[in-house]
Amino acid sequence: MRVKVDYEICQGCGICETIAPLVFRLQSEPYAVALVKVVPPDQESSAREATDACPEQAILLND
Ligand code: SF4
Repeated sequence: MRVKVDYEICQGCGICETIAPLVFRLQSEPYAVALVKVVPPDQESSAREATDACPEQAILLND
């Protein structure tokens, strides 16, 4: 599973980092970043949960 954050949409709320801190990190610019391009299998459910919880739908997952 590949992951990306759309920096144009992200508002920096930090929810993704709270739910999946091994996949996302909040920065002042450009807000949240994905720490990995390919999500490790043991982080996939957290990454999906963070994606569902993102209020801006700024996280893109590709299986
Ligand atoms: Fe950005 Fe969405 Fe993460 Fe909030 S949850 S920091 S809007 S990617």
